[in-house]
Amino acid sequence: VSKEETRMKEAHTFAMNYYHHLLLNTEEGEKALHYLEERGFSRELIEQYRIGWSLPNWDALTTLLERKGFNLAEMAQSGLLIQKENKNEYFDRFRERIMFPVRDEAGHVIAFSGRVLTTETQDAKYMNSPESPIFQKSKVLYNLDVARPIIRKKHKVIVMEGFMDVMAAAKAGIMNTVATMGTSLTKEHIQKLKRLTDSVILCYDGDGAGLEAAKRASQLLMESKVKTEIAILPDQMDPDDFVQKNGAEAFEKQIIERPHAYLAFMMMVARRNKNFQFENDTLQYVQEVLEHFVGNSSPVERDLYIRQLAKETNISEDAIYQQFRKIEGKNLKQNSRQQAPPVAQNAPISRK
Ligand code: ATP
Ligand code: MN
Ligand code: MN
Ligand code: MN
Repeated sequence: VSKEETRMKEAHTFAMNYYHHLLLNTEEGEKALHYLEERGFSRELIEQYRIGWSLPNWDALTTLLERKGFNLAEMAQSGLLIQKENKNEYFDRFRERIMFPVRDEAGHVIAFSGRVLTTETQDAKYMNSPESPIFQKSKVLYNLDVARPIIRKKHKVIVMEGFMDVMAAAKAGIMNTVATMGTSLTKEHIQKLKRLTDSVILCYDGDGAGLEAAKRASQLLMESKVKTEIAILPDQMDPDDFVQKNGAEAFEKQIIERPHAYLAFMMMVARRNKNFQFENDTLQYVQEVLEHFVGNSSPVERDLYIRQLAKETNISEDAIYQQFRKIEGKNLKQNSRQQAPPVAQNAPISRK
């Protein structure tokens, strides 16, 4: 780790303590504190996650960092400050936002996400730190430092969309959860998780965007040979909404302990917006589902789901099975064409 990175992390820790102090001990922080209480954050949770508040001033943190002897150009690179155009002057990146610290795997603060108190203005709901020498969002999973031992113990990790959801799960005592920082799940994220477990539950928001994100993430996970299940939230709810409305126990029993298997989930997604009164929709549905079966299903699973397909579409199990064999055959041919290069003329011949 370079000296520069160490200094940047130190500055982030300093900023975190400052923001945290503003939230808990000052008049300026009262509105934000009230907002968090309304959202079900206990004092304990606020302290545990060191949540904070940033003042509306343009130079509150800048002045403090300068006084502490930090180099402001470096602080701008770290994401805490922004340099004024064509000037050797700096100002605070985060203003008037609830500050959520983001920690790396070792527990060092490396970034922030700041939330506005009200979404009625035009400001983006969340502002995240930019990419920096200490923060690359394609690699960072929120809460991984805290969740790691529990993921190991439970042999399972729950991946969510937002850090608010992770904290809602924490309220429910579910601690093996992480979230991506406003990006889709990457191969790098998956490699990190694979060192801890080979079983993932995706628990994304119950809206169109969440469903699409879960679809992409589950495909990537399956390609990486990770057992993937998908927990589905009721319409338009995210994990945080669900805990808020139905309580922690319901969340655990009804959502986390009853995830869908990958193929069942894919069938559900394929079924969306389709009407089996229309031939085209029906044929497209069957085709789409069978394509997911290739390489992702055991004979037992195929039997189970083909029965279900037949019931849903009124096509015979036989015909569906034949169609599956056809798709599988085509796929095998394609793969063998891609993977087996022709034997070279002068390839050495084994004598044994
Ligand atoms: P809240 O409950 O406070 O509305 P949320 O967690 O439900 O928050 P979503 O809109 O579901 O927020 O977004 C999920 C994640 O996507 C957030 O945690 C954040 O990291 C990221 N995100 C959302 N909106 C933005 C934005 N405008 N800019 C950057 N990241 C964002
Ligand atoms: Mn969302
Ligand atoms: Mn959400
Ligand atoms: Mn939410």
